[in-house]
Amino acid sequence: MVRSRNSRRFWQVRSAADPGVGELLLYGEIADSTWWGDEVTPKAFWEDLQKLGDIKELRVFINSPGGDVFAGQAIYSMLRRHSATKLVYVDGLAASAASLVAMAGDRIVMPRNAMMMIHNPWTWAAGDANTLRAIADDLDKIRESLVAVYEDRTGLERERIIEMLDAETWLTAEEAVALGFATEIEDSKAVAASLAGPGRLVINGVTVDLTRFQHPPKVLTVVPQVKDGVVPDGVSPGAVPRDTPWEAPDLQDFTDKTWDELSDEEKRRIAGHYAWVAEMPPASFGSLKLPHHRPSDGAVVWAGVVAAAQRLGQADIPEEDLEKVRAHLASHYHQFGRKAPWEEPDAQNRLRLLSLELELLTGH
Ligand SMILES: [Zn+2]
Repeated sequence: MVRSRNSRRFWQVRSAADPGVGELLLYGEIADSTWWGDEVTPKAFWEDLQKLGDIKELRVFINSPGGDVFAGQAIYSMLRRHSATKLVYVDGLAASAASLVAMAGDRIVMPRNAMMMIHNPWTWAAGDANTLRAIADDLDKIRESLVAVYEDRTGLERERIIEMLDAETWLTAEEAVALGFATEIEDSKAVAASLAGPGRLVINGVTVDLTRFQHPPKVLTVVPQVKDGVVPDGVSPGAVPRDTPWEAPDLQDFTDKTWDELSDEEKRRIAGHYAWVAEMPPASFGSLKLPHHRPSDGAVVWAGVVAAAQRLGQADIPEEDLEKVRAHLASHYHQFGRKAPWEEPDAQNRLRLLSLELELLTGH
């Protein structure tokens, strides 16, 4: 995931549309050294949470390959301490430190093709030799506290959890629920995932380097989700700054090959950057409609979303797909804290009036 050096916070806190509800987004890497720097600290995180006021529910959206063990632990503790009911959504992947954060949920919801991964803390530690030496002694203690957290959440035997940590265990949503790492499966949502080259998986727009894990193959079960000509409803990351420039991509932005040289899998992957295509795999590059994801990493670009929404009417999309395409683009609008044009109250009224008119005209 691309994060601007200037905005170092790896979290995003905002009020939800519902009163008394707050939202916390943890997309991408959880912390780096800046967690202990000047402005990105546990204190800043806690203060951001406090800004939500006296909320009764906190929705935590996680899509992260993990990161700093101390940060993960601190966030977990702060979420537990927070008085709101915590509703955790695994928006793709909750691996390593991110899985620990997920355990803070009173409910932990996963789309069927989302993944969780747990492993030992020493595989997550990052830093230079001095840092590593300094934290090495703590890692055993940290593992103990991790085991306690997972034990507490799942009710599994301590020995079983240690085995899972040692083995670097990847869990599907079904397995996570069965073992107690999650509480429910959300069938109405699917995670959009695609391979972006060897060892690089893009899950709802967050790029995960699979080579950093010991046993990643299972994660590949989340791959191709693009089907029936319409890309999925899953939300990709909103982490690209809103002013990121946008230009409709050429085939060369994705690959050096010609369309006919591409494998079906590559064609599907490229299609995932668009809002609509008539069939899968797409017959030609030209058949892909309404691009809005950056070719380099699948990130959503605001200007691309707006351009796609504006062209929606001219794209010759069949009526039966239009609703899904609208939902997809609307989910991107929401990532940027906006409503899609057709969701504005005025537009809704206009649409309602229009359909009423049509009903009157056509008699049904
Ligand atoms: Zn999209």
